[in-house]
Amino acid sequence: MKCDVLTLFPDIITAYLNESIMKRARENKLLDVHPVNIRDFTSDVHRTVDDYPFGGGAGMVFKPEPIFRAMDHLNEDGEARKVILLSPRGIPFDQKKAECFAGETRRLTFICGRYEGIDERVKHLVDEEVSIGDYVMTGGELAALVIIDAVTRLVPGAVGDASSVKDESFSSGLLEYPQYTRPGEFRGMKVPDVLLSGNHEEIRQWRRKQALKTTMKVRPEMLDRIDLDESDKKMISEISSEDD
Ligand code: SAM
Repeated sequence: MKCDVLTLFPDIITAYLNESIMKRARENKLLDVHPVNIRDFTSDVHRTVDDYPFGGGAGMVFKPEPIFRAMDHLNEDGEARKVILLSPRGIPFDQKKAECFAGETRRLTFICGRYEGIDERVKHLVDEEVSIGDYVMTGGELAALVIIDAVTRLVPGAVGDASSVKDESFSSGLLEYPQYTRPGEFRGMKVPDVLLSGNHEEIRQWRRKQALKTTMKVRPEMLDRIDLDESDKKMISEISSEDD
C-alpha cells in the first residue's frame, strides 16, 4: 500500500507509523507512507495556511493555495493517485471501504483538514470524501491513521496470521466472538469448558453462537445485511429464548 498524507503535522503521522505492526509493514516494504507538510507550500513569510471565512462566522478556514501547490508538486512524479479528503461530511469509513482501499493500485493521497474546515474549491482535487465517524475532531490526522491502519492489516503479509483478519469483527458480517487465553481460571473467572474440550466443531459452533449473540445485542441491524443459514436461525431462536 502506497500513500501520501498532506498535513500540517507530519510528526503525528510518523510517530504512529514508527511503532508495532505499522513499523514492521514499512520495514517489509508492504506500506510506504509519505507525509507532506502543507506549510512547506506556502508563499508568504509567515507561512500562512488559514484565513477568515467569507460571509463571516466562527473560526478560520484552510486556504486552497498551499493544498493545490502540494498536490501539483506530488503529481510531478506522474504516479496515479486516489485523493481522499478526511471530513465529517464524508462517506462513513467501514471494513468494506477498507477492503476497497486495500485493492487500490493507485497511491492513496489523504488530505487532512484543520480549523473550521477547508476551502470548498479543494474538492476539485478530491476523488472521495471520507469520515471515520459521527463526531468532530480537531484535525484529519487521526482519521488518516485510522484508515491507513485498517487498510494495512488487509495487505497480505502485514499481519502474521492471515486467518485472524478473515475471522474478526465485520469481515464475516458479525461482531467477533469472545477470546480467552491462559490461565484457564483467573480470579474465580473460568474459561468456557468448550474452548478447552479440543472438539473443533463444538468450538466453531460456540463461537458462531457467541458472535450472533453479541451482534444481536450491540449491532442488531448488521444481521439484516448477512445471509443467515438454518443453523444460524436456530441459534438466534435459542439466544432469544435464553434471554427471556
Ligand atoms: N467544521 C467542520 C464540520 O462541521 O464539518 C469540522 C472541521 S474539523 C474541526 C477539522 C478537520 O478535522 C476536518 O477538516 C477534517 O479533516 C477532520 N475531521 C474531523 N472530524 C472528522 C471525522 N469524523 N472524520 C474525518 N475527518 C474528520
